[in-house]
Amino acid sequence: MPVQRCLERLAWPAVAAAAAQPGSTVLWPLGAIEQHGPQLPLATDVLFAERVADAVLAGLEPELPIWRLPCQCFGFSPEHQGFAGTLSLPSELLISLVVAVGSQLAEAGFQRLVLFNAHGGQIALLQVAARELRSRHPSLAVLPCFLWSGPPGLSALLPQPERREGLHAGLAETSLMLHLAPELVGPDRPRDGIADQAPPQGWSLEGAVPLAWRTADLSQSGVIGDASGADGSLGEALYGRLVAGWGELLTNLLLSDWPPTAG
Ligand SMILES: [Zn+2]
Repeated sequence: MPVQRCLERLAWPAVAAAAAQPGSTVLWPLGAIEQHGPQLPLATDVLFAERVADAVLAGLEPELPIWRLPCQCFGFSPEHQGFAGTLSLPSELLISLVVAVGSQLAEAGFQRLVLFNAHGGQIALLQVAARELRSRHPSLAVLPCFLWSGPPGLSALLPQPERREGLHAGLAETSLMLHLAPELVGPDRPRDGIADQAPPQGWSLEGAVPLAWRTADLSQSGVIGDASGADGSLGEALYGRLVAGWGELLTNLLLSDWPPTAG
């Protein structure tokens, strides 16, 4: 990614000039430090958020007004408590952190903040933080994105039942890591966390009638899904669709007039 797009590497006059550009946008990657089964590192979501963000930003037209913040590595991961190395922030602390950083970006003159989040367990929290921030700073558009939803064609690459049941450290995440950093992927790649502990009839782990599951309810290994068939070529295909999909979504945002004039 071009160094000029790293906000923290600029001096303040350059930041002021960046913020003053029409449609000035900051992209903030957010991950988590949490267990990802016996085969993947704690920082899996951090690595995905950073690598996809950097590839997307490197591919954008240089004149588009977007800059990147350093990744927020600690996230909200209470569902993974009990597995060594999971380091979760309190929910109110993470909401306050997002509101504090976003407020100062708004006061500096930036017009949009993209929360580029790779951890599924903090989607709802970041939506709350985004609404809070927007209500305090109507001039700042806030877009709470989740890495794995948005780009088309991702689920078509995954077989059933993994498409529905692969919630954590399963086929998709293990394959993507095999593509991006194979040296970080261990050989023990379980299938775990689903069949023995089916939700009550009509309910589901996620989706329309969710259960606020804890990993310990479902899985001994920490995997919820089937990592056994992971391979780097699937990861390469997922990565290609993630980068292309987010590239298009961000370009559309940057060329748009969003947000409507604050009233
Ligand atoms: Zn993850």
